[in-house]
Amino acid sequence: MQAHSDYDVAVVGGGLVGSSVAFGLARQGQRVVVLDEGDVAFRASRGNFALVWVQSKGLGMPAYSRWTVKSAQAWPALAQELADRTALDVCYERPGGFHLTLSEREWTHRQGVMQRLSAQADMPEVSFEMLEHAELARRLPGLGPDVVGGSFCPLDGHCNSLRLFRALHVAGQRCGLHYRAFHGVDRIDPHGGGFKLMTTGGEVQAGKVVLTAGIGNARLAPMVGLSIPVRPQRGQIIVTEKAERFLHFPISTVRQTDEGGLMLGDSQEEAVDPVVGTPVLSVLADRAARMFPRIARLNVTRTWAALRVMTRDGFPVYEQSASHPGAFGATCHSGVTLAANHVFTFADHVARGHLPPAEFEVFSSRRFDVQKVA
Ligand SMILES: Cc1cc2nc3c(=O)[nH]c(=O)nc-3n(C[C@H](O)[C@H](O)[C@H](O)COP(=O)(O)OP(=O)(O)OC[C@H]3O[C@@H](n4cnc5c(N)ncnc54)[C@H](O)[C@@H]3O)c2cc1C
Repeated sequence: MQAHSDYDVAVVGGGLVGSSVAFGLARQGQRVVVLDEGDVAFRASRGNFALVWVQSKGLGMPAYSRWTVKSAQAWPALAQELADRTALDVCYERPGGFHLTLSEREWTHRQGVMQRLSAQADMPEVSFEMLEHAELARRLPGLGPDVVGGSFCPLDGHCNSLRLFRALHVAGQRCGLHYRAFHGVDRIDPHGGGFKLMTTGGEVQAGKVVLTAGIGNARLAPMVGLSIPVRPQRGQIIVTEKAERFLHFPISTVRQTDEGGLMLGDSQEEAVDPVVGTPVLSVLADRAARMFPRIARLNVTRTWAALRVMTRDGFPVYEQSASHPGAFGATCHSGVTLAANHVFTFADHVARGHLPPAEFEVFSSRRFDVQKVA
């Protein structure tokens, strides 16, 4: 077995973000260890809605819109590479996606959001359409009469995110990556030009360290001179029994999975516990049934809650440490959408030891200091 001190990079946290970065490093021949709490951990990566989503991303930060579009465009290559390396189909589809509104107020609000988004300087070339009920009903058979209108973006898609999670793990390990469950990191110290990590499973040494521990990044970041202020935000999801396929596009809160079940989601609640509650679930179910009345006839088979990894402004943080060269951090609340960027772009820069400021400065957590002063 490889000695622990032999690693080029220790990736702390084996959720979707960590697994993507780790696979991206391992496919370049880097010697990588992933240190993770294991399947006992509360992971956003196991409870998400599986959208690869572009529309409405980046209001207030056009660079985030560009970053999201770049990942959506790289997703077909990611799905193909994972299939080639693992024979696992992550069921990625990009038919375009809809956001539906159920009142005039929601419709006006959505129009405003999409107009302000498109009017920003430095936005990428993305076409959005605002559609009224009649046109939506033509494109979405079975649409309910309560739907007033909606927005459509051709770059939106979805996948099977549990399969994605598994494929990233398998692909990484086939490239020689070591995954260590039950290795929760308690302390990180600079050591011999690299880092020594004290974990619940023993000590590990590596030349570089990448923090991808989800909510755990807030505690770990100061150990390597970084600041990654994140908080949990609860999201609840309903899954129905399998149904005959009728929904050929993902909707931001309703999608039919590759296996046939309907996923209805997903709430955004300021809460620290991943617990489900019928008041929120009933709102999700009611809205979904008003969008597509046939959903009301389906049995619910599962519900769950999971915690998003949320920054103050909702945008990601990518950062390298000035005081601890070789230490990096990454956090976001769209780890499915951004998986392709984490594999192909972020990991590449970590391997080279430098995040180019032209692309990454905007994502530094130093923006929160500016907001504090302002
Ligand atoms: C309800 C819901 C719906 C969502 N829908 C979408 C969607 O449609 N599309 C999309 O793109 N994204 C979506 N997301 C977000 C997506 O799931 C997350 O961005 C992604 O899972 C975050 O992954 P992560 O790896 O940062 O965090 P997590 O999945 O939380 O993983 C963190 C990992 O770090 C480990 N860890 C923590 N502390 C330590 C430590 N000290 N030492 C070692 N390991 C540690 C944990 O064991 C865990 O494995 C959704 C999230 C939720 C909750």
